[in-house]
Formats: sequence, structure tokens, C-alpha cells
Amino acid sequence: MGPLIVPDSSLPTTLADLLSNSLVLRQTAPYLPVSALYSLAATSKSLHHIVLHSPEVFRHLDLSTVKSAVVPYAPLDSGGISWRSERMDESLTEDEFYSGPLRGIFSKLERRRLLQNVHTLVLDGLSVPADLVREIIAEDRFNVRILSIREAKNLNERKLMQVLRYAVRPTRPQGSPRIKGIYFFGPREPAPKPDAQSNKKPSPTISRGVMSSQGAQIGAEWNLKSSEALNTALARTEDKWYQCTGRVLAKRPSLEWAETLKACEGIIFFDVVLCRGPRHDPTKAFVSEGPTTGVPNPASYLNPAIATVALGPSGCETCHSCPEGAAAFGQSPVSQFPLLSPLPLHSASIRAAQMPHTIDGSRPPPLFVRCEECLKGRWCERCHKWWDEDCYTGSAIAQRTELQQTEFTEAVQASGASHLAAKKTIKVIGVRRDCFGCGHTCIDCKELFIRQCRTCRNEYCIEDNDASSDTRCDWCNYTSRRTLEMY
Ligand SMILES: [Zn+2]
Ligand SMILES: [Zn+2]
Ligand SMILES: [Zn+2]
Ligand SMILES: [Zn+2]
Ligand SMILES: [Zn+2]
Repeated sequence: MGPLIVPDSSLPTTLADLLSNSLVLRQTAPYLPVSALYSLAATSKSLHHIVLHSPEVFRHLDLSTVKSAVVPYAPLDSGGISWRSERMDESLTEDEFYSGPLRGIFSKLERRRLLQNVHTLVLDGLSVPADLVREIIAEDRFNVRILSIREAKNLNERKLMQVLRYAVRPTRPQGSPRIKGIYFFGPREPAPKPDAQSNKKPSPTISRGVMSSQGAQIGAEWNLKSSEALNTALARTEDKWYQCTGRVLAKRPSLEWAETLKACEGIIFFDVVLCRGPRHDPTKAFVSEGPTTGVPNPASYLNPAIATVALGPSGCETCHSCPEGAAAFGQSPVSQFPLLSPLPLHSASIRAAQMPHTIDGSRPPPLFVRCEECLKGRWCERCHKWWDEDCYTGSAIAQRTELQQTEFTEAVQASGASHLAAKKTIKVIGVRRDCFGCGHTCIDCKELFIRQCRTCRNEYCIEDNDASSDTRCDWCNYTSRRTLEMY
């Protein structure tokens, strides 16, 4: 039997029939880059009509991959002379120059009456001056609900904060601003790969040099693998904010940003949230009156801060909760949840952007996130265990100073008799920096990685001191080997 031949002329018609169904179109359009939409429109009259006249097609507009949206020049030429005098019209401001390509696209869309249809606008990595953000938020020709400006260029953050604070001012017109969500703090989404393993931590044997002990190496690898599997299993979601990720943001946002988020609370939502640790609450924190003793109070008031550390779904190591309580999706206030990546394709609602997708379709796990200041001395950077204010007092200087004596009775059934024998255990909690490579670690992690050298009695980290052995620090190990080799 010969190959089945479909006449070419039948293809556009079939596709047009299919896409004229608004449900199919709504599901399909967000997956197509703008260039593909235009080529589609160019193939036939009916497709041209569908693409350019259906409100669904431009609901979700991702311009981050559109070539004409990119500013073609670098700000300074190689001679260090400003490009402005040569390449720019004198009447053009710098902001206008940098926003030129996007303004061009927006006015084209406006002329075709398509701009109003855009509810989700993705401008990641493009040149987006703050003035342009102001227009998108304030001007009537735009109807954007969710805006993504991650890794945007030429975006003055201070100006952006002013724009946002103005948009949420108490005297703003009713029903404004239309914008509900902004993605700004997280990294832009990577181009889809067949196997999305790119954000996984590399194995410790690759990233941290060769470990001297085979056993420790296998052990560490096993620990990492099992903890990753455990993270996904425990959190039931692959979203990094809901997992035991540790630091989610590469850099800590400024105090001004935290205050801007506070001003926008409940009006505009972001891809980060404020830390709700008890020290940020002036009614619960220790607010100093009168002269201070010079020793910082571990419960003293902290300014608003953006939560940058994801602690996983299980809460404090001892009580499995925390004073501020976990954020429970669907129950806690909406402002407690970050917008998640990737952006929802088929909806521009905050709920859709915040909702974590669980691997088994079950209820979203509880969310525990905090700023680093609220975790000082209570969070292990290796295994991500942490203790809250009720379970570990800690101190302003991060040290495992307190040996918390936890008495618990282990039921031991004595043979023949029915009495219970009590076993007393001393549990050491809190974290300390024993190794700069490891960061602050808990006692369990210290026991795994920090050894005392048999020769010099100094402590060393078997993972970060490359030339060390199981029993000797790198210096003593190297010296003894060298001595052996010499004689
Ligand atoms: Zn606790
Ligand atoms: Zn905090
Ligand atoms: Zn640990
Ligand atoms: Zn170390
Ligand atoms: Zn030594």
C-alpha cells in the first residue's frame, strides 16, 4: 500500500475549522509564539480572520522571544562615547529610546484593536523602562492583569517601586489598578527542555571536588538523592517555594522592596511574599524603649523583609509548626502566597498563578517561608532542618550555644515485668558555622561532615577539605603522605 496522501489545500481549511472553535483556540494560542500566530494568519483568509479577530488569541502574550522587541544597540559604543548623540533623535529621552521596540509593538496591536485583549503580558529579559510599566498599569488602552518583567533590562527599580506605590495609593480611583500580579523577583523561565533536570543541584562529587573516602562519597550522594526524592514526596509538588529548597532567590531584595510589597498587600501580588516571622510583628516583637544594653535582643523588632528561604512542608523540626502558622492554600489570606512559575497559560487570575500543582492532584501542602534574619541560628543550610522561636531560643550571634536538654521517655518493656524504664536523652539543637563551605549546620550534619584530626586535633570538614582523609585533616594527611613518599 502506498503512503496516504493528504492534499495540501485541505490543510488550512481543516485547521481553520478547528481553530474557529473558541475553546480549542483558547487552549492552543498560548503555546504558539507570536511569529507563529502571524505566519498562521498569513496562510489563509479564514485563519487571518480567526487570529486577528478572536479575543482569545492574544489573551496571553509572550513577547520575550520576539526579535523585534529587543533594543538593537548597547548603551555605550566601544569608544565609550554615548550612542545617544549619534543614534538618537535629540528629542528622545533615554527611557523612550529603550522602550521604543515595545512601544512599536503595542501601538501596532492597539491599531488592530488587539491590545485590549491582552490579559497576561510576558516581557521577561526585554528592555522595559519603568515608564513603560507605568503606562501598562495606568493607561486605559492596556488591560493587563498579570505582567512578567523578570530579568528585564533598563528597568530602574526605584522608579518601578514609585510607580507601584502610586498605583496602590489610598486615593486611587475605584477599580484600579487593573494589574493584579507582577512577576519580577524570580528567574525567567528557561526554554523548555525534553528532561527538565536543569534546576537540580549537581551531585556533591562534581561540585565539591573529590572526596577522599569512598564511603563518605556514596553516603553523601545517597543522602542527596534520597533527600531530593523525599522533598518531592513530602511536598507533593515540584514547586520550589513549597519544597525544602533553602534559598530560592539568588539575591536578597532591599528593604524598599519589602515596604513596597507591604503597600501593595492585597492589591498587587508578586512572585515573592513577605516574611511573617513573629519579629516583624510589632505587637509580638520586642520593641526597645530607652537605652539599649548593646546586646541585641533575639526577639527584637525587624523591618518588613521578603521571605527568601523555602523551608518545606513539615515546619519546625520539634513542633512541626511555627508561631506565625503555615500558609494553607485556600484558607489563609491570598497575600501569603507567591505567584508560581511557570505563569498560567489559560488564565490571568491570581488564584491560578498561586495554586501549586501537586504530583498526585491532592491538596496543596502547607507553605513555610521566611527571611534569613528570622532563621539566624535556627536553620541548617545542609539538611534544611529548622527550629522556630518557641522551640529554640538561639541568640543573635548564630551559635549552637544552648544544649537543650530534651527529656523523653522511651517505652522499654522489661521482660516479665510491666514497668516502663525511662531513658534520658540529651538532644543538641540549633545551628553553627563549623565550615565555611557547609554554611550553618545542625549537629547531625556536623557529625556527618566535621571530623577531628587524629594528628593535630583540629576540626576539619571531610567534604570541603579536599585532601583530607577519614582520620586526618588535609594538612596532616598531605604531610604524612609526602613524608612517606620522600623516604
Ligand atoms: Zn517548634
Ligand atoms: Zn523574617
Ligand atoms: Zn543539618
Ligand atoms: Zn564543609
Ligand atoms: Zn591535622
